[in-house]
Amino acid sequence: MNKLFAANWKMHKTQAEAGETTAELARRCADLPDGREVLLIPPFTALSVTGAALCGRDWFSVGGQNFYPADHGAFTGEVSPAMLLDCGATFALTGHSERRHILGENDALVGKKTAFGLAAGLKIILCVGEMIEERKAGKLEEVLTRQIAAGLADVPKDTDPERISVAYEPVWAIGTGLVAGPKEILEAHALVRAQLLKIFGANGRQVRILYGGSVKPDNAAEIIALDNVDGVLVGGASLKAEDFSRIVLA
Ligand code: PEP
Repeated sequence: MNKLFAANWKMHKTQAEAGETTAELARRCADLPDGREVLLIPPFTALSVTGAALCGRDWFSVGGQNFYPADHGAFTGEVSPAMLLDCGATFALTGHSERRHILGENDALVGKKTAFGLAAGLKIILCVGEMIEERKAGKLEEVLTRQIAAGLADVPKDTDPERISVAYEPVWAIGTGLVAGPKEILEAHALVRAQLLKIFGANGRQVRILYGGSVKPDNAAEIIALDNVDGVLVGGASLKAEDFSRIVLA
């Protein structure tokens, strides 16, 4: 399975900025090592320009940060999976901590979106992770188990496991500069893997598990080499092509 390096640009970049960053990144990563894959997740407004700037490069793809689980309808401010696909996106995130904790998305909605997005043809990265209070209260396993069970509840068990990724992103490490240590990442990823095996049987081994939370050029190589780490989801350090290319090539 390829390691996936995903850049979540959140609410950053105009079309021109996204096009420039993408073109520079493609140049810097012209010699992408075998077994690596890059995913750019810009705001909706820059999806098309980001895809166009990739000029059909192998092993680069584009994804959406969000979608609503319906084909179309009266859902002001939302976009459908079909609209993402129409703009060239092949991946989408569900359950990102900013959507859970700032925009109030609950486990049930995250589950609905995950199943709907997969059925519509997107590859989905389901994000899970505990808050610092939950970690301190010894609830890591409980939180991950609950979020994964709800997130994958309606996903058919025979779904191609390579279309699903789970990103472990401890909320306390997102955008804070605090990175989980190897011991914490190994423990959390082993818990995620065990649950994926319970849900999907042996296919659970083919589901990628990404780590996210203050990944930077100087810690990426160590993180990506850990057991059960099949990629990284990067926010802040993905905004500059130079930084993100150093992560991708680490
Ligand atoms: C994220 O947005 O998913 C993320 C991990 O952000 P950062 O890398 O800035 O912590």
